Amino acid sequence: MSSISIKRRGIMFVLSSPSGAGKTTVAREVLKQEKNLNISISCTTRRARPSEVNGVDYYFISEVQYKEKVYKGEFLEHAEVFGNYYGTPRSTVEEYLDLGQDVIFDIDWQGTQQLAENARDDLVSIFILPPSIEVLEKRLIGRNQDADDVVSRRMSKASDEMSHWPEYDYVIVNEKLDKTIFDVRSIMNAERLKRLRLKGLVGFVNRLRSKN
Ligand code: 5GP
Repeated sequence: MSSISIKRRGIMFVLSSPSGAGKTTVAREVLKQEKNLNISISCTTRRARPSEVNGVDYYFISEVQYKEKVYKGEFLEHAEVFGNYYGTPRSTVEEYLDLGQDVIFDIDWQGTQQLAENARDDLVSIFILPPSIEVLEKRLIGRNQDADDVVSRRMSKASDEMSHWPEYDYVIVNEKLDKTIFDVRSIMNAERLKRLRLKGLVGFVNRLRSKN
């Protein structure tokens, strides 16, 4: 392993997909395997599902708290999704980026558009598609954590959400979890190596050249 590391700014890796395409599982697995990667924990006004833990999956907040955070500019992006409000806390993400650490986001297309408007150079966006509509439905029902009407509302929204795929830098069809994780990590590696992100390269090359 090389001990030379060239300074760079952190990258915001966004994963979006219709709900049930497996993006949350992908994000959590990639997070386990990648060092130097942090997850952005969103705030939401949605009620916690039985398996969800406050501060781990989301910060579960009230609508009043949400509106106050929007008013104070505490969100990097925020949006209404399926009748609930979601927002990405700004300060933690900015601290990670400044330290040269990467952050992964599980957010929808509205949030991705806002990040692209404000910080295009720091953003790499990946859209995850299900292999088929049947698989999407099975995953939503199999999750067994949402009421039937919620599942059917999410299914009918899936087509709208999928229409946003051309706005993303990369699109992956999530058929086999291992392959999807491999692809996401390949994208991450390549993006980290991009010359324009390596802010420390000028100084490094100057030092190399001055030794002659
Ligand atoms: P769920 O309620 O199933 O956890 O998430 C519903 C949708 O909201 C998903 O598409 C998820 O990616 C999106 N989402 C979660 N957190 C945020 C956020 O902070 N901002 C935005 N814009 N979308 C979010």
